[in-house]
Amino acid sequence: MLNFDNLFQRELPGETDAPNRIRQVSNVCWSNVLPTPVSEPHMLAYSSEMAATLGLDDLAMHSQTMVNALAGNTLLSGSTPYATCYGGHQFGNWAGQLGDGRAILLGEVVNVARERWELQLKGAGPTPYSRNADGRAVLRSSIREFLCSEAMHHLGIPTTRALSLIATGDKVVRDMFYDGDPRAEPGAIVCRAAPSFTRFGHFEILAARGELLLLKRLINFTIARDFPELIAAPEDQLAHWFAEVCTRTARMVVAWMRVGFVHGVMNTDNMSILGLTIDYGPYGWVDNFDPGWTPNTTDASGKRYCFGRQPEIARWNLERLADALATVHADHTALEAGLAIYDEVYSAESTRMYAGKFGFTAWQNSDADLMGDVFKLMQFADVDMTEFFRRLVKIDSAHVSPEVLRSAFYREDLFTQYHADFSAWLLRYVQRTNAGGQFDSQRVSRMNRLNPRYVMRNYLAQQVIDSAEAGEPSKILELLEVMRHPYIVQPGCEAFSAIRPDWARQKAGCSMLSCSS
Ligand code: AMP
Ligand code: MG
Repeated sequence: MLNFDNLFQRELPGETDAPNRIRQVSNVCWSNVLPTPVSEPHMLAYSSEMAATLGLDDLAMHSQTMVNALAGNTLLSGSTPYATCYGGHQFGNWAGQLGDGRAILLGEVVNVARERWELQLKGAGPTPYSRNADGRAVLRSSIREFLCSEAMHHLGIPTTRALSLIATGDKVVRDMFYDGDPRAEPGAIVCRAAPSFTRFGHFEILAARGELLLLKRLINFTIARDFPELIAAPEDQLAHWFAEVCTRTARMVVAWMRVGFVHGVMNTDNMSILGLTIDYGPYGWVDNFDPGWTPNTTDASGKRYCFGRQPEIARWNLERLADALATVHADHTALEAGLAIYDEVYSAESTRMYAGKFGFTAWQNSDADLMGDVFKLMQFADVDMTEFFRRLVKIDSAHVSPEVLRSAFYREDLFTQYHADFSAWLLRYVQRTNAGGQFDSQRVSRMNRLNPRYVMRNYLAQQVIDSAEAGEPSKILELLEVMRHPYIVQPGCEAFSAIRPDWARQKAGCSMLSCSS
């Protein structure tokens, strides 16, 4: 059914007969480990695009063989499951060995297009890297990961993918609010897919332990398997590769900032070497525009991972990767050049992105003020980010009134209070768009290509979770269906673009999320 070709296992050292008990694992990149069977696997949803990419049709996805394999109850031919070893900096501090504590790789599948996809079960039971946890995942977080992976893909943002979402029939105990009141929740397993799940932390752990020969092997392997276009690099392949990682990371963060996505846990173990959005945990989507907003309750006091700091944190994470690479690369200036490329790419691509978001053909230096001023106003006046940009499209010289933007305001009193400020700003805006000399029709299509009509708002996901927990999983695919075409207005789908309702403002899952998942 699937053609496995497990290069990571074949070319990098691992433990093949090691006991599945929690411990430090040194001098290898992976440990063989079998998923722990679950009692009653049941397919809740799958992504038909991802299935098709792997050559799996509906019949295959519904087959008992596939459901069992995606639940970790049986093995597909060619699959030799394993968990990988990585470390990471968590909230700014070195945390030592982390590793795939609840993710088990089934292997690498090569499809008919000769693309390589690693398949990974998240929540399939303990591994040597499970630390003090159970290796499982709850339904609520699995729904969030399944939906958001695919939504991000459809938004055109680099991301790991999700193939399937399986209910296990087993309960998982979690203390969701960390208040000493744990409860048993339904368990689930997501099958994730990506060309590579390698993280910055895979390199960091080897550098930290001084396993430098292995670090070199992992670097060479990564370049050969995941960056084949760099093999021909004339000299200093490692520096070229690091620069490419910096470039891709910059592009990913530009895309996050464009749509109001906040990852929530940008630890270096959650940074993909391919520049993919990875590890959907307590992520969130900006409703009312606020650069200081973080969806993660653990981050509420420090706000290290808030919306506005993501570009800076991504760079900090790249610096930690550079530190690791520096242990095997004498030319540190070459690595610094990579970091400078991050700054350049971020700056060039974010200004281009913001220009497009506001409907300008190109960025002018004076746009920084225009943009900064409206971002401040949006923050003070509690304005919804997604709705604002879809309404801003409607502004033209014949309709220069904040009334056009009214639906983006959460509070009537603030609409009134800031009416004059928005009027003044809109006049500047209209002047600027006219200064570009382009037809409004072009501006509209340019803006609507970059400003999604539908994003996976926190409360939308929570509504889907509430009904799935109540035994009605069909809303999962209903939401995914809308998110498949996020830039196009879909008649009858107004409920999916509505700004956050009042009831959701402080509700758990709709405003803040804990890491407990
Ligand atoms: P995260 O902050 O979710 O990216 O996870 C950090 C580390 O904790 C990783 O090594 C995860 O594999 C591990 N981890 C998180 N949740 C669990 C769990 N339920 N069981 C085992 N390991 C976990
Ligand atoms: Mg993680």
